Amino acid sequence: MSNRGPIEQEGVTLRFWGVRGSTCASGPDFVQFGGHTPCVEVRCGERLFILDAGSGLNALGAHHGTSLPRRVDLLFSHLHLDHIAGLPFLKPAVLDPSREIHTYCGNLDGASAAETVDRLFSPPIFPIPLDVLPARFVHHGFRAGETLTFEDGMQVGTIPLHHPQGATGFRFRHGGRTACYISDLEHTEPWPDPALRRFVEGADLVVYDGMFTQGEYPACRGWGHSTWEKGVELCRAAGVGQLAIIHLYPQHTDTMLLGMEQQLKAAMPTAFIARERQEIVLPALARVPAVA
Ligand SMILES: [Zn+2]
Ligand SMILES: [Zn+2]
Repeated sequence: MSNRGPIEQEGVTLRFWGVRGSTCASGPDFVQFGGHTPCVEVRCGERLFILDAGSGLNALGAHHGTSLPRRVDLLFSHLHLDHIAGLPFLKPAVLDPSREIHTYCGNLDGASAAETVDRLFSPPIFPIPLDVLPARFVHHGFRAGETLTFEDGMQVGTIPLHHPQGATGFRFRHGGRTACYISDLEHTEPWPDPALRRFVEGADLVVYDGMFTQGEYPACRGWGHSTWEKGVELCRAAGVGQLAIIHLYPQHTDTMLLGMEQQLKAAMPTAFIARERQEIVLPALARVPAVA
């Protein structure tokens, strides 16, 4: 990041490490958009947050190597498999005894992810329990809707999302810029949901679960996912600058997604379908004081 100027350094930057939903995709038809399940890096200035621990977390870990901060803050939208399966593969960070990985989970009535994650990462499902990995895990529970306040004073807004077992949306604001992560969710009637519209109001960027096409959706009603059309409706109503579609259906090939993106851009020219490793920089609108 050293090649970025002061304004970029003080804005919000997102990088997509996994954009596929439900399960990975692989093969020659899945090259442009990528196949890893959700993992998004968010930087407020130089301050790092990781959203979700899908299989893309491994790529994030490999990219940053030992340069990740000593304390890593990992925010879970929820604990479905496609959002946690990458957790033990955050290498080399999990192999470093000086690192603390703090997880935040907001969809379990205040309970943390500890029990769920311990259950999943124990023999015979996974050979090494998380507490045997050298890095220390600290799990925090909250209720979606609360504002998270971190030790350094950073604050992140949250909102409950309509999804089986619930999910949490996040709102980051820094340097006069706002980015929201809204996945996984299924749209509701009436749409846009008034609380969600208020939550994303005026955001520079909304990352939105657009897993299904409008044609596919009726057969997938109740699965907990939305469409890019509903994302556009939400962003229009809330005056959002850019829309990034994520949680891509594993059977949607590059060709299909490029076609969908054309339709998406016709409806909202600043919208796009997120690509693995794509970086979006929202430069700060003004200099901001360092966080305490
Ligand atoms: Zn998912
Ligand atoms: Zn889910």
